[in-house]
Amino acid sequence: MSGLTVAHELIERGFSVTVYEPAFLGGKARSMDVPNTAAGGRLALPGEHGFRFFPGCYQHVPDTMERIPVGGAGNVKDSHLINVEGAVIALDEAGYAPITVPQSVNGFVEHASAIVNLENLRNSITTSLKIVGDIPPQELAFFVTRELIIATSCEERRLGQWEKQSWMEFVKARGKSSAYQKYLVSALTRATVAAKPDLGSARTIGQIGLALVTPATGLISQYAGTIVGGGVDRVLNAPTDHVWINPWVDYLRGRGVKFVMGQGATAFDVAGGQITGVQVSDGAGSSSTVTSDWYVAAMPLDRLKPLLRPAVLSAAPSLAGIAELQDDWMVGIQYFLSRRSDVPPSHIASLGTPWALTGLFQAGPWDVDFGRKYGDGRVHDCLSVDVSDWDTPGILYGKTAKQCSKEEIAKEVWAQMSRALNRGSTPILRDSELVSWHLDPGITWNPTISNATPLMVNTADSYQHRPTADTAIPNFFIGGDHVRTNIDLATMEGANESGRRVANAILDASGSNAERAAVHPLWELPFLDPFKQTDRDRYRAGLPHIMDV
Ligand SMILES: Cc1cc2nc3c(=O)[nH]c(=O)nc-3n(C[C@H](O)[C@H](O)[C@H](O)COP(=O)(O)OP(=O)(O)OC[C@H]3O[C@@H](n4cnc5c(N)ncnc54)[C@H](O)[C@@H]3O)c2cc1C
Repeated sequence: MSGLTVAHELIERGFSVTVYEPAFLGGKARSMDVPNTAAGGRLALPGEHGFRFFPGCYQHVPDTMERIPVGGAGNVKDSHLINVEGAVIALDEAGYAPITVPQSVNGFVEHASAIVNLENLRNSITTSLKIVGDIPPQELAFFVTRELIIATSCEERRLGQWEKQSWMEFVKARGKSSAYQKYLVSALTRATVAAKPDLGSARTIGQIGLALVTPATGLISQYAGTIVGGGVDRVLNAPTDHVWINPWVDYLRGRGVKFVMGQGATAFDVAGGQITGVQVSDGAGSSSTVTSDWYVAAMPLDRLKPLLRPAVLSAAPSLAGIAELQDDWMVGIQYFLSRRSDVPPSHIASLGTPWALTGLFQAGPWDVDFGRKYGDGRVHDCLSVDVSDWDTPGILYGKTAKQCSKEEIAKEVWAQMSRALNRGSTPILRDSELVSWHLDPGITWNPTISNATPLMVNTADSYQHRPTADTAIPNFFIGGDHVRTNIDLATMEGANESGRRVANAILDASGSNAERAAVHPLWELPFLDPFKQTDRDRYRAGLPHIMDV
């Protein structure tokens, strides 16, 4: 995401750009064909690293999509980015039942039959009564107050105080009811921002929580979506590579970007405080040195760390902080089903599942006849699931995902999803409808399990260690979801913003007067400004936030 964004911004400003990619363009955002599944003139079954969610607060990614042409006069955003109108919330505990809620008035109207029916009504009443019984009202009020504290904290306090605490500490989970800890603190955080509450920075989680709900107010014109029209939750209407990454690469290639596939950076040569060349290798013994005016490392954290050797660090000492940054596992698995789900187009949050599962049935939002388009005709839907916790024992084998075989992972995820989703009187998942499954190929056993694409996690106090797009080496720049950005969460949006920051830094370094790539702030509701001003005065006076009691 970051590398393609840099290429996009620079090629449109007259630079010549070469992208070196050892594995797959699209990186963690890519989708892939499931091998040997295409038959009868259909496309292969659609696999993906993990399903994609584009909240209404994303500004950079939609702008980039709008600048990628498809189908004559169209563009990726207008042709393929669509609203998801509902959400399914399933709490994985006896006494709860999954509920389908609309995300907008339009969503309610469009999917009224799936929302206003006896089953959903019964489930909603059951679940509401249970949660009200399980989480004491004062704890609910306390949780809301903590989010309000973030909303009304000044920037200095967010960075100086909340950034240093984990979300778990910030919401004072210890001593509260187990439902407060399990659902409000842990599961909600996992499901919405894919972060571990005991590790994630309170600033990052609190801020992104606000950003996810703010578009629904309709009060921020820069954000997509309203409570009426929908759009606070968006997805692509087909496999990501088909409708976004491939057209993007075609566009960039057409503009003159060169792609060197199968080659990755293995070392940066440094002399006189500058990068003098980059060693690239095909991983099979063939290597060469590439020279250029400006160099961008737009690779993931785990690949960048070993390349920051002493010569690089002595020229840019602040990059030493990168060694402190952490990544974790989050990986997708897809289940191909013989029946099209009747759940309306919705993200599914299976709160409280041991492996922190979220999902999406794809045939509905894609509005496609799966059986005619993909596979051999037997598959009519795909449930794409993200597994966010690889370290907690599961329910079938008592093992963590990292301890399981591939088949065990597939069975375990299916069992956890089924248990959470089938607690109502009508099951949502049925074993008899499971045709096949596909786990992201980045997970391999050789002989022990490894993950080729871990994801950066915004741990407490990690902001200070994160790099900026420009570095103390004047011809060396860093892109990626680990770079300091306004959205401040490892996402496609953060990676895209980082790419724009890199492009702008190269424009500065080259003395170009081309228009800078747009970089947007994370907008918050203006009526909060006076409260933030009061908090700024208090913070500077060494006082706690007024609601922090
Ligand atoms: C399961 C899952 C689901 C997710 N869902 C969402 C979502 O719904 N919404 C969202 O916004 N974000 C989501 N994310 C996060 C998002 O995918 C990433 O934050 C984003 O793709 C990161 O982009 P990037 O450019 O920083 O890195 P990457 O996507 O990792 O790309 C880096 C590229 O560098 C290449 N590379 C590796 N080594 C080298 C080398 N030595 N030299 C040159 N190149 C190299 C890699 O092959 C890769 O192509 C999800 C992540 C995961 C794991």
